Amino acid sequence: MLNEFATASSHVGRRAIVIGAGVSGLSAANALADHFEEVIVLERDELPYGATPRPGAPQGKQAHGLLGGAIKALEELFPGFARDLVQAGAVPVNHGFEILLEFPRMDPFPRREWSWLTYSLSRPLIELTMRRRVEQQGNIMLRGGCRALEIIGTTDGSDVTGLCCETEDGSPEIISADIVVDASQHGALSLSFLKSAGRPVPKETTIGVDIRYATALFAPSPGALGEFKAIVTFPNAPEGVHYGYLSPVENNCCQLLLVGRGDDIPPVDGDAFLAYAQKLSTPTIYNAMKGAKRLSEVARYGFPESKWRHFGRLDSFPRGLLPTGDAICCLNPVYGQGITVAVQEANILRRLLSTNALEPDPLATLAQAFLAEAESLIEGPWAISAVPDFIYPQTRGERPEDLEDRLKSQAALARLATRDPAVCELFAEVRHLLKPLSALDNPELVRRVEAEMATV
Ligand SMILES: Cc1cc2nc3c(=O)[nH]c(=O)nc-3n(C[C@H](O)[C@H](O)[C@H](O)COP(=O)(O)OP(=O)(O)OC[C@H]3O[C@@H](n4cnc5c(N)ncnc54)[C@H](O)[C@@H]3O)c2cc1C
Repeated sequence: MLNEFATASSHVGRRAIVIGAGVSGLSAANALADHFEEVIVLERDELPYGATPRPGAPQGKQAHGLLGGAIKALEELFPGFARDLVQAGAVPVNHGFEILLEFPRMDPFPRREWSWLTYSLSRPLIELTMRRRVEQQGNIMLRGGCRALEIIGTTDGSDVTGLCCETEDGSPEIISADIVVDASQHGALSLSFLKSAGRPVPKETTIGVDIRYATALFAPSPGALGEFKAIVTFPNAPEGVHYGYLSPVENNCCQLLLVGRGDDIPPVDGDAFLAYAQKLSTPTIYNAMKGAKRLSEVARYGFPESKWRHFGRLDSFPRGLLPTGDAICCLNPVYGQGITVAVQEANILRRLLSTNALEPDPLATLAQAFLAEAESLIEGPWAISAVPDFIYPQTRGERPEDLEDRLKSQAALARLATRDPAVCELFAEVRHLLKPLSALDNPELVRRVEAEMATV
């Protein structure tokens, strides 16, 4: 049965399978539910009842932030999602006013109230809130403890017809499907399906960053953050590599994230971890946290490289196969863009399903249209994270030829933003993926940025 909002004209197929119940799998499942009689989400982990980290998404122990663009995209997909987040314990944050933003050479960065909010919470609570919404859809089934083993299709790889999985009791099961969405993060099953059918695999672009995350939860001392709810300390690049992020999460706790690069690795020993905060370009976070009680172990995570698999550039793609989320592109997490991109992709899928449902064969062009749009969508976030990463000489990858100009222009734009509230909000909206990068191409703004560049 289609869900209650679906109509006969929105019908695309009988069964959709999603590999992975992470952020992109849950988002895609919700987009598919209006168009398929049944959506089955297969997740290798047992899905927890509460907001607890799980082994299949190890980044869940690390501090996460939701960009303004994530909230907008989540609201579009799950109307009322911000309300759900607050009810679950998330802390609303006006980014420009309630976060102490410490940019080197721009200290103090002016406080400004923006017209939109973000919400601060743990990554497992983001997923739990999404799972609860997905579970309300009568035609979506979440199957935890079920590992997808192989995508199945025609021998020439032109069509995907289902997959083989290992069920909860360890036995193999073949499930037929009209579409298989690969939201596994690694995309390995999509790649092996293409390879085994002798089809071309996507080219990859990588940027080697070798960053190390370490996060612990704390009970902050009362008033430790002064009038702010969160603090972000950016490195004084390229000499400085350390990044710090302190933000509230549910249950009156806060998450402290410290990031190093290359051989400079944040320690997991509790006292040494806190002492590592003294390497930040200002002592603000260390001073705020030095009396705080640590509530969790320090969890570490290594992120070697951003990776973009250009599925959208392939000349043809199997009917009924659709990679999404990190399976297409893993972005340097420091910029906090991954969830936004994953949910924005689900909204693209939702729109394409609605329009394609009117076609005689709705799946014929779906994957290619989706992958082409995803390719364009990723260009903005990739550019936003790639350029600053290349400021470090040790960053691996193909540097843009105009790197110097881009870095200077970004610095000039940031200086303008400190003086002009409208530029500040526009710059923030672009970084939060609320507006496309092209919003900065406004001729008057370009002229002002060039004039500012000439002043240095
Ligand atoms: C350290 C770190 C910090 C981050 N911080 C932020 C942040 O602050 N803000 C932000 O927006 N983004 C952040 N990100 C990025 C964000 O976590 C990802 O972009 C997002 O989780 C992508 O979602 P996904 O569903 O594609 O992958 P995941 O969330 O990783 O989910 C993939 C799921 O697939 C399951 N799976 C894999 N293989 C199989 C299989 N064979 N069968 C069944 N299930 C399978 C896994 O168990 C997992 O549940 C961060 C990433 C990292 C690494």
